Amino acid sequence: MRNAFGLMCACVVSAAVIAAVWFWTSSPRADVAAPQTVAARKAEPLPVAAAKPVPPREDVEVTAALSAKPGAPVPAKSTCANADALGVSRVVVVDTTGGPGFGFQQFKQLDFLTDKEVVLTFDDGPWPTTPSVLKTLAEECTKAVFFPIGKHSTYHPEILKQVAAAGHTVGSHTWSHAHLDSKKLSEAQVKEEIEKGFSAIKLALGANPAPFFRFPALQHNPASVDYLGSRNIAMFSCDIDSFDYKSKDAAQIINTVMTKLDKQGKGIILMHDLQKHTAEALPTLLRRLKAGGYKVVQMKAKESLETLAEYDAGLIKDMKLPAVASRPVGSVVQTVSD
Ligand SMILES: [Zn+2]
Repeated sequence: MRNAFGLMCACVVSAAVIAAVWFWTSSPRADVAAPQTVAARKAEPLPVAAAKPVPPREDVEVTAALSAKPGAPVPAKSTCANADALGVSRVVVVDTTGGPGFGFQQFKQLDFLTDKEVVLTFDDGPWPTTPSVLKTLAEECTKAVFFPIGKHSTYHPEILKQVAAAGHTVGSHTWSHAHLDSKKLSEAQVKEEIEKGFSAIKLALGANPAPFFRFPALQHNPASVDYLGSRNIAMFSCDIDSFDYKSKDAAQIINTVMTKLDKQGKGIILMHDLQKHTAEALPTLLRRLKAGGYKVVQMKAKESLETLAEYDAGLIKDMKLPAVASRPVGSVVQTVSD
């Protein structure tokens, strides 16, 4: 009996590993690959009493560390209290080598979403409206990608920490929301907007951000694309623009997103966590996505971004912070006994 149960557990692990699927699309750039699915919730039945419905799992990683001890149930990494939550249907990992672009509005190479799949993205935070967005995402046990502004991250580092702590992916959206295609910006200023933005987010998080970037107002030019490519930073446009920043109320945002989605069938949705109406619209919008059969794909980076030391140091100097501020808390204060 004990052996049989151990075998069953081993099968579950095997099924989970087999569930990891590669998606490749043809691309003129040989160094850019579509994201890799690392988890599929459906493929992971747990050996627990199944009398009541199993709630959607938040985030399931397939890793070598997942081991099944004979006789011990496989522990769920996290649980979701909402049995009818939108959840996360799959998690993809992006190899950002060469700076792949996502979002068909501008980048049409990597078509990795299948019908009814969406990616939730939020720009311009962290802001006092962000915790409300986080609360709604948590209630629906779902995950998003955030593109914070560097300056805002220096105003509200504790809010940005909450975003990362909730398991969302944190990229960047420049230092000061400058439009990088502006002829007024020199090459050095474009580089500074990009690098200082990432450095500010690292300073707020106490950890390296994901090498994910969204251009302010989706405005890019060849020089900025080349630079991001040279830094192996993925670029995000969108498929579904919510136009939340110019919507008069929550209802208009919901209507815009659902109308476009029902027409296009899938896509990366662009919203702003600093918009009050967006925070108000989100509970209903996520319910509508669930009711419409849409599934959320979570995008993560294969590796985090190494920020450039000169921009980290320049930021500390600008903010008149002591140099020690650039060190993560864990490297300053360590628990040696508890
Ligand atoms: Zn923006």
